[in-house]
Amino acid sequence: MVRGSSAAKRLVSVSGRLSWSWSSSCSELLYLWGSSRSSSSSSSSSYTTTAGNYMRGAVFWEPNKPLTIEKFDIPQPKANEVLIKTKACGVCHSDLHVMKGEIPFTSPCVVGHEITGEVVEHGPLTDTKIIRRFPIGSRVVGAFIMPCGNCHFCSKGHDDLCEDFFAFNRAKGTLYDGQTRLFLHGTRQPIFMYSMGGLAELCVVPAHGLTLLPDSLPYTESAILGCAVFTAYGAMAHAAEVRPGDTVAVIGMGGVGSSCLQIAKAFGASDIIAVDVKDEKLQKAKVFGATHAVNAIKEDAVEKIREITGGKGVDIAVEALGKPQTFLQCFKSVKDGGKAVMIGLAQAGAVGEVDINHLVRRKVKVIGSYGGRAREDLPKLVRLAETGVFNLKDAVSRTYNLEEAGKAFQDLNQGAIVGRAVIEIM
Ligand SMILES: [Zn+2]
Ligand SMILES: [Zn+2]
Repeated sequence: MVRGSSAAKRLVSVSGRLSWSWSSSCSELLYLWGSSRSSSSSSSSSYTTTAGNYMRGAVFWEPNKPLTIEKFDIPQPKANEVLIKTKACGVCHSDLHVMKGEIPFTSPCVVGHEITGEVVEHGPLTDTKIIRRFPIGSRVVGAFIMPCGNCHFCSKGHDDLCEDFFAFNRAKGTLYDGQTRLFLHGTRQPIFMYSMGGLAELCVVPAHGLTLLPDSLPYTESAILGCAVFTAYGAMAHAAEVRPGDTVAVIGMGGVGSSCLQIAKAFGASDIIAVDVKDEKLQKAKVFGATHAVNAIKEDAVEKIREITGGKGVDIAVEALGKPQTFLQCFKSVKDGGKAVMIGLAQAGAVGEVDINHLVRRKVKVIGSYGGRAREDLPKLVRLAETGVFNLKDAVSRTYNLEEAGKAFQDLNQGAIVGRAVIEIM
């Protein structure tokens, strides 16, 4: 179907392009005539889903059951929310944790939290500043932490700790009025949302979680800015506070770990040590700025890191896997006074152990970090990618289509993806 809108009740674009109208209750949609996308106006445009007045999305029903592609009603954004025609969605371990039941999450739900897309609608009563910032037709990238903008933490700029995001989205699978925007077509069964529920043809995103994507950056590769790169940036900028000349080790060369290498390099780290158990991933790590590669199966990673750093250990070690043994490795790899930054999510309830006396006497800091600050960091990440400081192209190694979403996560589960895979949606 083809449709376009702003907060206005009726929009009719220039002749020969598109005309449609909808009621103020949003329950009635009159499709009048449609053709290709209008580019003549910032206040109207159109979008196409597969057919009719529904969209398709991949539903996760319960742990270890395959994703199924279902029809949904067209989602309706509310105030200060933006409806996005999803172009691409990254394939992340956090989704996989949910799908394997390792991290409890409300289901059935649509996973996928690393998206790019095109703005097609603003919720009614949306702030005019938001509409001006993200006009219909604009290209955007979304951060997986979608800050509410108003809570105790958001008001201090700490978007990564947003109370509403954790209380509603992560705890209940909804947006911040306690409701999902996703309903199955026909039955109206509510389907919950992991972040914005990116594995669907359309998604609703609170506007503070978005930033504009310039024309020079492709939709597919740029999807990873919203989680892999965002998480890496948050860890390096806010948790590790990397300074020029710092030595850095990164354990786990997935999408996030390999992004950490690039950000560490951009921040001027001197030695950048990549640790993984697959030579193929370590080989690729050098493209992203690793000066040393350590295969943790073939050698003792902690000993090797100490050897590379003249026996001291690194200023900053980052754990991007979420496993108790790599948590310990990370802790042991840092020098006295150094920082062990933990960014890998683990199975719910997993516990990491450290040597208490070493922590106390040698003043090692163990710091958790979950993503970045959408409003402050996401525009910077876009700029780093735009100027080529961050290499997006090499970071994405594989693409799938929406029907192949299940296969993409299977491949991720088997460790068969080097860097990041992205699902291209439309
Ligand atoms: Zn993610
Ligand atoms: Zn907030």
